[in-house]
Amino acid sequence: MDAEQIKRIAGEEISLLQEDLRSLALDLWEHPELAWKEEYSSQKLCSFLTEHGIQTEKGYCGFPTAFRSEVENGPGKTFAFACEYDALKPGHACGHNLIAACSTGAMIAASRIMKKLNLPGRLVILGTPAEESGAGKVHLLKHNILDNIDAVVMAHPGKCTIPDRGSLAIRRYNVTFHGKSSHASGSPELGINALDAVMLLFSAVNSQRQQMPEFCRIHGIVTEGGVAPNIIPDSASCQFFLRSAKEDWMEILDERFDNMVKGVALCTGTEYTKEPLSINCRSRKPNTPLNDAYVEVITELGEEISVTPKEGRGSSDFGDFSQVIPGIHPYFAITEPVNGAHSPEFMEAARSERGVNNMLKAAQALTYTACKYLSDPEFQEKVKADFEENC
Ligand SMILES: [Zn+2]
Repeated sequence: MDAEQIKRIAGEEISLLQEDLRSLALDLWEHPELAWKEEYSSQKLCSFLTEHGIQTEKGYCGFPTAFRSEVENGPGKTFAFACEYDALKPGHACGHNLIAACSTGAMIAASRIMKKLNLPGRLVILGTPAEESGAGKVHLLKHNILDNIDAVVMAHPGKCTIPDRGSLAIRRYNVTFHGKSSHASGSPELGINALDAVMLLFSAVNSQRQQMPEFCRIHGIVTEGGVAPNIIPDSASCQFFLRSAKEDWMEILDERFDNMVKGVALCTGTEYTKEPLSINCRSRKPNTPLNDAYVEVITELGEEISVTPKEGRGSSDFGDFSQVIPGIHPYFAITEPVNGAHSPEFMEAARSERGVNNMLKAAQALTYTACKYLSDPEFQEKVKADFEENC
């Protein structure tokens, strides 16, 4: 199959869908819902897919706001689009409304091309809730949802248009030290100071920074520090996020942090509880051939790729997907480089003309990537080889 022909038809199909996709993206923006509570959004997306010929029902693997549907055209490879639609407290400040419209549009367009050009294989759309704070994909993976899928893609809005540069594995902890309260001036000798333990833990973490590779991060906040200066705090808490681009260093950081907590408790005479704040996410492993296909189309549509030496330093539950099968999570620009995700400016951009237009370009690029994959066994091999090389 001629790649240029696929590219041209991908453009035509997305053009036919563009007004529907624009309305869909804006509708989701108007109805922001937090992780696991995406009732309106998931229902809207399932109805949208069904109206466009892909029968889809809400609920998958016991998660009410997840969904999955597929379109098949004989034996061949299976290519999937992941769809996110959860919001943050202020609203769609991470632009997941655009991700949802992008993957949904690409699924519909690619399915139509599949039938038109008789491309062999299967296309799947996976509605994956709770990216922001629930690591929904990690939960879904426990149900082996990527079995029999060969590659998976999605595109995320960002402050620049870039291929997938990877992301960091993340582990999140809540640590509480338990001491003994006493009058801080009258009888300090009777107290055990839990806040001192928290402060010492920050010092211990800071002392590690010089001995960490550049691709590691540790950052924390104090969440509870006592009730009054004249009472020695009997309880003090903090939260820390540990991140690494490499899985082996994630283990080292985790062990070091654990030892620091234990050491601090010993130093201060406190007891402690250390609990994960949420499920761990793995680092994201980009796939060069899939990235190249995405970049090829989005640059032809007029987007400039920002060349920065820095690799991805965020974290996402798509990392776990990309460790299981080849996948990419590239970006399309919706704001200027000074306004990153999770800001008020980004939230506005997620419903702007530019935001929607670039979402449509990304949808076209993902449509092309999917159809190229289904139609080109050599490309399939390259994708697989790149994945295995980076294992
Ligand atoms: Zn996001």
